[in-house]
Amino acid sequence: MIQVKKSRGIPRNLLQLEALLARLPEAHPKREEIREELFKRRSGYRGERTLDFILTTMPPTERRWHTFHDIRLQQKRYAFQIDTLLLSIHCIVLMEVKNFSGEVHFDSGSYQFTRTNNKGVQRFSNPLFQVQRQQTQLEAWLDYHNFPPLPVISIVVFSSSHTIITTNQAAHAQAISVLHAEALPEKLREIESKFNKPWLSTNQASSLISLLLNNHQELSSNCLKRYQIHPADILTGVTCTACQRLKMQKSLKSKNWRCPHCGHHSKNAHIASLQDYALLIDPSISNSEARHFLEVDSQATARRMLTSLQLKVEGSYKNRRYLLPIPLPGAE
Ligand SMILES: [Zn+2]
Repeated sequence: MIQVKKSRGIPRNLLQLEALLARLPEAHPKREEIREELFKRRSGYRGERTLDFILTTMPPTERRWHTFHDIRLQQKRYAFQIDTLLLSIHCIVLMEVKNFSGEVHFDSGSYQFTRTNNKGVQRFSNPLFQVQRQQTQLEAWLDYHNFPPLPVISIVVFSSSHTIITTNQAAHAQAISVLHAEALPEKLREIESKFNKPWLSTNQASSLISLLLNNHQELSSNCLKRYQIHPADILTGVTCTACQRLKMQKSLKSKNWRCPHCGHHSKNAHIASLQDYALLIDPSISNSEARHFLEVDSQATARRMLTSLQLKVEGSYKNRRYLLPIPLPGAE
């Protein structure tokens, strides 16, 4: 039986790239790089969703597995993120999910990992090393929190059943399994029969579950810094929730937002734009910053919009800042 303890949301960096691309001028020199990065992230996320689907629709397993998707933990100074972690009282299964088209090859002599498709051969960071690093960090983390050294089994999962996987290494010499997502139910059954010594009591398992959930840290990175984009390059205005173009205008009469391009009306279009601000510029906003970003003239209107969201605030009067959570409730 698979029980999801932490589900997978849309990754923060994917939301950031989407907001960034929508708010970069057409002629901006970084647009192409951002577009490519967004394409890669979207494909990675699609692959992870495929794995989630296979796990949730597989026939019930004998054992109880607790699932954690996209969990990010800190061990000493280093954070590590695991695509999917399955926990039982007998062992932990750690999965790194890859979405590749074409043929991938693991070379045991040079340790190179390459992908061949119609664009030719390309080399990528080796997923075996990635997953090995995660395993080492997870083991150190468990040890640090005084859990017994329960077995950790690492797997590299290719989400697409079209990916051809090749290697020149003998199967018995492979310490880490590499497989297609559709083979996962079979692999889990194999793991269940092989690892049958209980390492954790039910109480220890519950405290490990809480610890994993409480220690998860969402990655918060400054997206503009990473791509060396100046905040002044970010286009301001409210994005139309129907046609995605900028500069919706607030009608003085109806108080609704109206799109000058497609005529769409919206009461809450500013909420998604405030979320863009949180993703790209700052997780908190002042009244004057909101007026600038949403292109609203009136201080009272901006105040009304911000207070109606019932956000947590910091500071008072002139220094008041509204904290913008992600996702922002009510964003369309
Ligand atoms: Zn529109």
